[in-house]
Amino acid sequence: MKNKKLRAYMVYCMIPEEGADLVFAYTAREARLIGFQNFPFVLGDYIDFRSHWLRDDEEWYQYGNPEKIAAGKPHIGNPPFCTACERWGSPVLIDGLCEYCHGDREYENEMVQP
Ligand SMILES: [Zn+2]
Repeated sequence: MKNKKLRAYMVYCMIPEEGADLVFAYTAREARLIGFQNFPFVLGDYIDFRSHWLRDDEEWYQYGNPEKIAAGKPHIGNPPFCTACERWGSPVLIDGLCEYCHGDREYENEMVQP
């Protein structure tokens, strides 16, 4: 594990819109297994699970368990969800909304204006 740090992965079953976990792990394979074991109900088989490296690891660390991050222990994180679509994936939420929902709302507001 020398010089290795936990990476942030999004783990989901086939399509991320159906629910996804933020998993801190060293490899995509490890993240996939942790995500699969954590899912509260069985959506599919292990082979249906995908993991996607989020790349900005440091950015996502704030949503992990600080002790486990410090100890370098793989675990499930707790990212902020968009209050409209309940998705996560953009580290910055605007008024509790992801950038997509926020964009939609701006658009709707513009339509209402005379
Ligand atoms: Zn949203």
